[in-house]
Amino acid sequence: MAKKVLVVEDNELNLKLFCDLLRAHEYAAEPVRDGREAVERARDFMPDLIVMDIQLPHVSGFELIGQLKADPALQAIPIMAVTAYAGREDEERIRAVGADAYVSKPISLLRFVDAVAGLVQKSPDPADEAAQG
Ligand code: MN
Repeated sequence: MAKKVLVVEDNELNLKLFCDLLRAHEYAAEPVRDGREAVERARDFMPDLIVMDIQLPHVSGFELIGQLKADPALQAIPIMAVTAYAGREDEERIRAVGADAYVSKPISLLRFVDAVAGLVQKSPDPADEAAQG
């Protein structure tokens, strides 16, 4: 079964780019345009990875990552932050809040896909867990 990726991004062009890219690599991509829906959508979709824009209206990606990592049902899902910021301080803040990786915008397509593949591999596979009993 295809690995599932929830993509939280308010910019329509970036959202389409990320989802098209993920689908081209056989992932099931689920777009979320409004960050206020991100946690609930994560609960419904139970993705293998969440791609999280940091600069969102209404609620920041930092805050959402904090909420996701504080939720026992969701905290194991790896999060890849995507941000236009490139400063060391921002990178440290992204990691401090619990993101597993970050990719800076404008994204390198290859780096994006590599980072996704690396993170999805780390997430527990329900089939493996079932096989182990
Ligand atoms: Mn944005």
